[in-house]
Amino acid sequence: MAQTASPPAHAPAPVALAAVEPESARRSLISYVLPVYNEQDGITAFHAELIAALGSRPELDFELVYVNDGSADGSLALLKGLAEQDPRVKVVDFARNFGHQIAITAGLDLAAGDAVIVMDTDLQDPPKVSLELVDAWQAGAEIVHARRRTRQDTAFKRATAHLYYRLLRSSTEVDIPLDTGDFRLLDRKVADELRKYRERSRFVRGIVASMGYAQTEVAFDRDERFAGETKYPLRKMARLAVDGMTSFSTAPLKMITRLGFAVLALSLVGILYALAMKFFKPEITVSGWTMLMCVVLFLGGTQMLSLGVIGTYIGRIYSEAQGRPLYLVREVIGGPDSDD
Ligand code: UDP
Ligand code: MG
Repeated sequence: MAQTASPPAHAPAPVALAAVEPESARRSLISYVLPVYNEQDGITAFHAELIAALGSRPELDFELVYVNDGSADGSLALLKGLAEQDPRVKVVDFARNFGHQIAITAGLDLAAGDAVIVMDTDLQDPPKVSLELVDAWQAGAEIVHARRRTRQDTAFKRATAHLYYRLLRSSTEVDIPLDTGDFRLLDRKVADELRKYRERSRFVRGIVASMGYAQTEVAFDRDERFAGETKYPLRKMARLAVDGMTSFSTAPLKMITRLGFAVLALSLVGILYALAMKFFKPEITVSGWTMLMCVVLFLGGTQMLSLGVIGTYIGRIYSEAQGRPLYLVREVIGGPDSDD
């Protein structure tokens, strides 16, 4: 406090203090969180396009936090080069590949901006659109989701994503916005709160949606990947989908109970049929082997499926209970205070 004598209790708030640092004079710092995994063919083009877009907003300060998520190609060397040329660039080098969601988390841990933008580094999220997110933030939004109006991915990816988001919405209480990935802007206070969520199997877009605050959307057309292939093969996509579902819903567990009732009902029909045959048509024996096999396999299948669902939740409990660090950093390169 700059004041020496404290004002009497009934005095109005010291409005004059605000004049010491007028809001308009303080430039906003916008941080970009940029996960990179084997993007050597596209990262230079991405950076150039982003820098060009940022050039159109001289009234803002920017900070670019690239997170190298254990790339096995030349991505790190290229990122180091970018950090040397530009003090606004910071590179967090992971000890290994920890996955996209964790990379985003590390970036958020380091980003210092008044607003933080998370976007992919394959030019699927156009840098120009990120400035539209900034406009929405300046207009008062605390979370700005970039919603995919159209996307250029394969028909399979589009169809599965479309189905998944609708399924997720219908089975959770969280209002997860449709057709949004992780491309979004978070106000400083949202980013600070988000950092308190330290769960391992994380689904960042779901967590953000569950937080509340003033949320809004900006629609954009998602481009094709500039270079290279998707780093989200089916296996990783499926894992993210399971993480999303199990992070926000116990619907799969409840489904087991429903499945149990359905199977019981079916077996009741079978029992009634067998009894009816015995009493009314004793000359016909209910065919044995095929029926038995079907029942055994059906029951075996449903039971294993149910165990799998329970196992998924137990697996989450297990990894959370271990409480291991979310990620390990080899080094942080660049930034305004670095000596490099
Ligand atoms: N990514 C990452 N770690 C991974 C996989 C992906 O940091 O294990 C990054 C990747 O470099 C890209 C973003 O996450 O910037 C999104 O990945 P990708 O474009 O492959 O996913 P898609 O757009 O196909 O869903
Ligand atoms: Mg992509």
